[in-house]
Amino acid sequence: MDVGIHRSVRQIFPPGHLRELIADVGSVAVVPDDRPVEDCDALVTFAYEPAFLDADLDWIHSVQAGVDRFPFEDLSDRGIRLTNSTGIHGDAVGETVFGYMTSFARRLHVYRSNQERREWGPPAWDEAFTLAGQSVTVVGLGTLGRGVASRADCLGMHVTGVRRTPTPVDHVERVYTPTDLTEAVADARFVVLTVPLTEETRKLVGEFELDAMRSDAYLINVARGAVVDQAALLDALESGGLAGAALDVFEDEPLPADSPLWEMDDVVVTPHVAAATRDYADRIAALVRENCRRLEAGRSLANEVV
Ligand code: NDP
Repeated sequence: MDVGIHRSVRQIFPPGHLRELIADVGSVAVVPDDRPVEDCDALVTFAYEPAFLDADLDWIHSVQAGVDRFPFEDLSDRGIRLTNSTGIHGDAVGETVFGYMTSFARRLHVYRSNQERREWGPPAWDEAFTLAGQSVTVVGLGTLGRGVASRADCLGMHVTGVRRTPTPVDHVERVYTPTDLTEAVADARFVVLTVPLTEETRKLVGEFELDAMRSDAYLINVARGAVVDQAALLDALESGGLAGAALDVFEDEPLPADSPLWEMDDVVVTPHVAAATRDYADRIAALVRENCRRLEAGRSLANEVV
């Protein structure tokens, strides 16, 4: 099989590193910067480009779990299968969210900022708290959501979840459906967004949902920026309707330099890196290798989206 590795994967790891890891699946080449994608059956990519539709591909693999930038209907019309990388980010994103929550509760981000000014500043007596006994609502209970829920449960937090199918999930005390979202977030000290961006989840959290949240609550978004109404979030943060937010994803990435979010004391901005780990390419290699086997055997693909 001829497999192309699109140069855009370098946003996550060096394309040549993945080529070495999957050299056994067939003829594997990195598509050079100045060349269009051609002469391959399968393409492993970060970005989507319209030219992919005319490249005679059988299969595209997205190195991200989120595939909201891909045109599902056009791919289906041309008989191009699309797979994503869900299933591999639970530990990395779970640990990142654990870090955000710990930072807010134990005020670590405040001390790190003070350190830059060589300032010895203890918190007000009622500022710091412990995560044990706090409530967290995880919106989306797939790979990411379960990675968050299991860690929160270990910390002694009360975990509530939201998913489309309200069947029980380990480490989650109560599961709501999206129609009861406001009820699900109303009592939570932390609300963590771990859903894909779809027509149903675009602006899932807007003015109404933010109003329903406690004023001492923190919003954590590791899903996609457009899952939250960004203007409503800014209003809530500026008016004290929310205590703070940890944001890994934004409608515009990189976050523009003039965004007020950069300057807010209780907002932690991270550059879409919640899933970053040096093992990322190994995990992608395992997915690609498995699907090469399946494609050659004429079987359905793992993580098939289209
Ligand atoms: P999964 O497919 O494993 O899980 C998605 C979950 O979201 C499922 O529980 C699903 O419900 C739920 N869901 C879908 N639609 C809705 C809805 N309308 N309302 C409530 N719940 C809904 O995906 P992953 O956990 O792997 O990834 C989720 C998303 O996170 C990705 O699509 C991507 O956009 C983002 N992501 C971000 C990363 C980062 O670096 N910040 C890294 C990896 C992913 P049900 O269980 O009922 O099917």
